[in-house]
Amino acid sequence: MNQTPLRLLIHGASGRMGQALLRLAAEHADTMKVVGAYTGRAPAQRVVDGIPHFAAKELHGAPPFDVAIDFSLPEGFDAILALCVERGAGLVSGTTGISQAQRDALDAAAKAIPLVWASNFSLGVAVLDELVERAAQALAGWDCDIVEAHHTRKLDAPSGTALTLGAAAGRGGATPQYASLRAGDIVGEHLVQFTGLGERIELVHRATNRDIFARGALFAARQLAERAPGSYRVRDLLNG
Ligand code: NAD
Repeated sequence: MNQTPLRLLIHGASGRMGQALLRLAAEHADTMKVVGAYTGRAPAQRVVDGIPHFAAKELHGAPPFDVAIDFSLPEGFDAILALCVERGAGLVSGTTGISQAQRDALDAAAKAIPLVWASNFSLGVAVLDELVERAAQALAGWDCDIVEAHHTRKLDAPSGTALTLGAAAGRGGATPQYASLRAGDIVGEHLVQFTGLGERIELVHRATNRDIFARGALFAARQLAERAPGSYRVRDLLNG
């Protein structure tokens, strides 16, 4: 086990997730240290609670780090991925709405660095993913619908988690349909419904606090620091 604290970059630090990450990382100052916090626009303050803050366009001059945690927007994704490859550092990314080309770039980068990209870092969703695949396999011919609800400021739809769950349903043989709701301050809800003749199964996950995602991302960062290059799922990291 490393004696020195894990050196983290937080990319997207001024956002809802970035703020949760900074707060939770500070609670583990003995094992991790945020060496740079990056925001889309120039930060209002250069140092906040002892952590240096930078604009994303200053990434090339980033201090040495072990793992970057990225919860930004797709337009910021390429730069943080390139920096991690250049530095040989790990990447934990939860940025949703990334393109197929960006996914391909992630696959290519996994040959050089350890990384995890996940549309949802909660343990509950990792388990839901398995349940959906199993239900789809067992219920051939049933309709499969995925309904997701999020706060009104969420930009992408369907959510990345809905698409990931849809892929699990697809692996099980189902062809899911999607519906998205944007309302109030909903943190994140996903319903996967299998409907047959005269019966219906509903598998639901409700996130009530976004700290679950931040905790999962910090856990993933700790795990990646010990791993060989490759693309990992949250489920892989949980299973040791
Ligand atoms: P937010 O809008 O509150 O914050 C976005 C952050 O990205 C801000 O710090 C902003 O300055 C920064 N940013 C914007 N453009 C940038 C650029 N070009 N380069 C670098 N940084 C840039 O959003 P949020 O709610 O914190 O969510 C951030 C991302 O994380 C979204 O894609 C969201 O869907 C995703 N998310 C994923 C999970 C998960 O578990 N995977 C959970 C919640 C949110």
